[in-house]
Amino acid sequence: MFKFANNFNCCKAVHCRNFGVLNSQDYIHKSTRLGYLSTACKSCGSNPPWVNNELVANIIKEKLEIHFSAKLNHCPKCSSYFFFEKDTRLHKYGFTSSGRQRQQCAACGSVFTKANFKKNKQLQAVLSTIVNKQETREAIKTTGLSPKSYYFYLHQLSLILANFSRINEEKIIERKYLGLHSEGKVLSLKHKRGVYSLISSEINSGYILLQSHNLTRTKLHTEDNYQAHSSTIVVSHDLESTENMLVDRYTQNMKRKHFEQLLVGELKALTKCSLIYPDKLAYVHFQLLNAFTRKSQKYDHFIEHESTLRAGALMASLKEIKKANANVYFFVPLAKAGEHINGKKIGWWNDRWYSNEFAAYCPVTSAGKKDTAVPLKETNDVERFYSYLDRNINKGINSFNVINEVFEIQRVLFNYGELTEQQSRANRIGITDKIYTPESLLDEALHSINA
Ligand SMILES: [Zn+2]
Ligand SMILES: [Zn+2]
Repeated sequence: MFKFANNFNCCKAVHCRNFGVLNSQDYIHKSTRLGYLSTACKSCGSNPPWVNNELVANIIKEKLEIHFSAKLNHCPKCSSYFFFEKDTRLHKYGFTSSGRQRQQCAACGSVFTKANFKKNKQLQAVLSTIVNKQETREAIKTTGLSPKSYYFYLHQLSLILANFSRINEEKIIERKYLGLHSEGKVLSLKHKRGVYSLISSEINSGYILLQSHNLTRTKLHTEDNYQAHSSTIVVSHDLESTENMLVDRYTQNMKRKHFEQLLVGELKALTKCSLIYPDKLAYVHFQLLNAFTRKSQKYDHFIEHESTLRAGALMASLKEIKKANANVYFFVPLAKAGEHINGKKIGWWNDRWYSNEFAAYCPVTSAGKKDTAVPLKETNDVERFYSYLDRNINKGINSFNVINEVFEIQRVLFNYGELTEQQSRANRIGITDKIYTPESLLDEALHSINA
């Protein structure tokens, strides 16, 4: 099993000798000198906010189950996670009395029967309630199912589509080079409920790899429970020059209590859930994103210009950054091509910024080096998925399981079915040549799982 980082309390200044070093002699742990808990690094003078490691570890566990587990047709004891664990070998092992094929796991000897998912009208009916973004109560009524059966088939549907999607992703994500793009978005639901969500895509195709949100069922201490009403989201004002726009963004950031204190306005949790703060979700999300980067030789990660995302992204790629195999960039999309900036130092941390016709960039990990070929050309792909989700989701959702299942179903429907210039994201990333409707996608997923 892949090991996630479990201690985030270290210096995060890339050019400090303590960058990513745990328990350095130079640290003052839980320093309160600046009015918030931090790890004070005496070597570079930085004060990264203190991270509750236990909380992050618990949420990683919870989200790992949601996004990468529930492998169908594999040994129930071994290799439970896509990407993070290799599949064990299976042997045919006779039949059950009802004639179904049994399998034995070569690693642990467990004998089990492969699941058999049949195409049935219940699955199709539940799928069409999702496609028609029906409120849950209305959806149950339309399908004629009991509530219990409706939730059962919704769960099955999300399992089938998630398995189909992850199996295909596993085949193609072993690459020499991978470019990733991540942004945070607030998705509002009815009755002031909502989630802060982190979305990551592959840069050339716009294929959405991972979308995680800040809802949890983990018990939280009061201070970890998101209760804020104000917003510290940094916005780009349309100023005369790109440089002024960036300076203004840094100024907005400096108004925060500390630079990772991203507040996203009033959000209420769904029933029987809590919300964590966006900075904690960032540590979790980027650790999980290692699923996709660990097999590529080199990768670039373009993150929204938000200091809350910086720390999480750096911590997730620490080893690869130190080996010069990974780079992290800030970026801000540009609405109009202005004058170019070329290595200008901007902001409190003297970040060095460049721009091209699409965006302004800041190489967080390789500052100082002139950056000529920045591979992120399409800066709207995350925004597109976000607005797709916003348009296509039933805003009355009030259950943890349902929101997880619907998000995953929508991620797959978007990747396989939404077309830009007659191509889906799955076409562009090279998973398939076909174009799918929701119905034909379900058929194909069932076919591949039962094969
Ligand atoms: Zn330092
Ligand atoms: Zn096994």
